[in-house]
Amino acid sequence: MNSDTAAEDRAFFASLARPAIRDLRAYDPGHDLVALRREFAQRVPQQMLQNELIELGSNENPYGPSPRAREAALAAIDEMYRYPDPRGGDLKRALAATHDVDQSQISLGNGSHELLMHLAQVFAGPGVDVVLPQYGFAVFVIAARAAGANAVIVPALPADDAMPYGHDLDALLAAVTPDTRLLYVANPNNPTGTWYPADAFEHFIAAVPERTLVVVDEAYAECADAPDYASALALLGKHRNLIVTRTFSKAYALAGLRVGYAIGHPELIAILERMRESFNINNVALAAAEAALGDEAYLRTTLARNAEQRARLAEALRERGWRVSPSQTNFLLVEFGGATVAIEAALREAGVVLRPMGGYGLPGHLRISVGDENENRGLLAALDRIAGTVA
Ligand SMILES: *Cc1c(COP(=O)(O)O)cnc(C)c1O
Repeated sequence: MNSDTAAEDRAFFASLARPAIRDLRAYDPGHDLVALRREFAQRVPQQMLQNELIELGSNENPYGPSPRAREAALAAIDEMYRYPDPRGGDLKRALAATHDVDQSQISLGNGSHELLMHLAQVFAGPGVDVVLPQYGFAVFVIAARAAGANAVIVPALPADDAMPYGHDLDALLAAVTPDTRLLYVANPNNPTGTWYPADAFEHFIAAVPERTLVVVDEAYAECADAPDYASALALLGKHRNLIVTRTFSKAYALAGLRVGYAIGHPELIAILERMRESFNINNVALAAAEAALGDEAYLRTTLARNAEQRARLAEALRERGWRVSPSQTNFLLVEFGGATVAIEAALREAGVVLRPMGGYGLPGHLRISVGDENENRGLLAALDRIAGTVA
């Protein structure tokens, strides 16, 4: 096919798509890890200081899930010929007990990504504003635009704030108009790692008009241990326009199985459920998530390790002169300035994969997932090896 034909085909199908989709840019998942792994495996082993790629680009949990989750998943494999429970009843019961809410307040998603998209499909559309933070999670703007809504992107806190590039709750509130149906925030936020204090959000949600639904994406809530951090879940009883999303992808280490959930008012959840594909969570995922949720001791151990490694890695990077944002997550946003592109490429060449931040509008930064002790040591050693050559 020549390029004229390709361009004509592209224009043809674009003309058939809804206007909102024509200019939409798909989510950027970062590097092609499958290709990188393959390439890395083919290199001459003695050239390399480690024989496996150190993957610190996707905020995955390096400790893996609870052994109970693995056992439950393996048992559920034998049920693959059956449809999964379309209600996800057992998992919802367990979640309701964990969070002290009613099952009718929970909707399950194929990852919380799906729920963030559905919320906009249900509550936003042409002529409607969706307010979201600059340097917020990339899915927010995709969700708003895919629904045909107007994405109102509110400037983040400045670089020299105590929470660099974090959410500016005052500015977000000021951007809300009678046309704002939906507002997204993430606490803690990806890719900045920052968070906002509990009391600031209490004032914020009390001031947001009730016809604006506030979605708080708490993908990293389990990782947060700062004294001024609090989940928005405690405020659900007070504000019927509040929705909280959570995921099994991060603290519970089940990213590959795709399970997330939203908690909100039962009537809001009932409407959201109309959008859901009946069998959106497969039976292996349902079983594994329920088992993972039940293993609190394992979760606590994982989180303690993450907190310890997060502090150590941040300190080690700061000692080397790099600016590291405060983080309540399982990753660090690090400023490498003019050396960013060269450092990222050299690290990748050395087998360490980080996430470039150009797509987020932070081209002088890299996002580094906090690995286990070995991975972090490997990253720092590779950084030290390349330091003289790229700076
Ligand atoms: C990783 C992440 C998610 C989780 O996505 P899943 O679809 O549940 O895997 C949601 N929000 C933020 C901010 C994230 O970083």
